[in-house]
Amino acid sequence: MDRVNRQRLISGWRQGLVASASIDVLTDSCTPPLLTESFLLGSVLLGIGQLRILGHPHTETLIGRMQSYADAIQSSARFLALNDLGPDNEQGEENLRYRADFRHGPPTEPSQQGESPTRTAWGRLSGARAIWGIGAPSAAMALDRSEGDASSQSDDDAGLSLLLAGACLSEIVRLLIPLPAWTDSPLFGPIQFPADPETPRPYIPEQIESLAMIGAGAIGNWFVFGLLHDPLAQKQPHLFLVDDDEVQWSNLNRQVLFTAENVGQSKVTAMQEKLDLLGWQRVQALHRRMEHPQFFQSLGLHPDLLVSCLDNWRTRALVNDAALEAGLPLLNGGSDPYSANAHLYLPGRSACLNCTMKLRQRAEDEVAPQSCAAADPSVVFTNMIAAGMMLWQLRHPPKMDQGLLAYDLTLSERIGRMELFSREETCRCRRPIAAGVEVKNSYSKSV
Ligand SMILES: [Zn+2]
Repeated sequence: MDRVNRQRLISGWRQGLVASASIDVLTDSCTPPLLTESFLLGSVLLGIGQLRILGHPHTETLIGRMQSYADAIQSSARFLALNDLGPDNEQGEENLRYRADFRHGPPTEPSQQGESPTRTAWGRLSGARAIWGIGAPSAAMALDRSEGDASSQSDDDAGLSLLLAGACLSEIVRLLIPLPAWTDSPLFGPIQFPADPETPRPYIPEQIESLAMIGAGAIGNWFVFGLLHDPLAQKQPHLFLVDDDEVQWSNLNRQVLFTAENVGQSKVTAMQEKLDLLGWQRVQALHRRMEHPQFFQSLGLHPDLLVSCLDNWRTRALVNDAALEAGLPLLNGGSDPYSANAHLYLPGRSACLNCTMKLRQRAEDEVAPQSCAAADPSVVFTNMIAAGMMLWQLRHPPKMDQGLLAYDLTLSERIGRMELFSREETCRCRRPIAAGVEVKNSYSKSV
């Protein structure tokens, strides 16, 4: 079984080009560790052939860790340290210029390097700045978090790191493989993170004492991976993991917490064991499918937040009903090969998933839950972007009816809010909640 067979199901995909690519990863002490780490892990999962690391303060340790990870998922990725070839080293520059396909790292204006980029664009991501540049035969891509509104920027913004790492990887793949779906769209565009206006009431994720994640697949893996770097996880909330699936070989091209030795094991158990190793002990694995909205109550569990990382509409509709019935916030993510989306439903404040995505109608139209063999499956970078946007939404909650936060590789804007499909006046999510009721756990206080 080829680990990366699944992404070959994407129309026009050329794994050979991914396998022969070499990426130079330029970092420095200011680069958020999660950004570097998730970019490298995502590259290994995708099947990038070679990664050369330059400027990292602990290159050997990082390479050792990445090499063991590559071995554990039976990837043949090669890692090289280039710390002896600094950016000022002419020899190093020659190597980089002519042998590397791409770069990823802190800001260095491509035009200042004599690279003659054909196109450059700048985007702002809520305190972060992304610089994209391309010039034949090499491309440069740089990220910087030092610009922008300092108040909205914090080192613990794990979602932003995941989002940027996934965005970088996706742009690289976009340059590598001329997929029909994205060849007609502009190569680069200004990336403008939607500015959320003042929110009517604070939503404080740190107050969450327990959360339930339904779906432990690709988005779930990256969500938990990112959450480990969020202040919420430092408080060790109870985490209930719900999934009836087992780890398969074909998962090892995107599900970052699983390795070859987990194949055949239940996903929730494998994830629980991994989290235990990483120091998160309060995790309960529920190896079963969520079959009805009262699922958690029937087990005597009362999570403060529901997190939906599902690959089918039917269960998503059940989770939405569960959130409406219990008055719980619901964080949802989704992805396909070219796009990702995230939405946070806050009772009394934002539209629910049914009003945002016509969930019940989609569930009825769904013949069977999507399988891993479905055409045009999601891929690791859109999974990372979805999880990153979910975490970002948790930190930057939406105002009423702002719609889905969406990332689309085929659009020049890349990121934005999608219009709501419907605004059902009769939906329970339209009811205002009483003043003084805490959003995060209105369930436990009202029942
Ligand atoms: Zn609704």
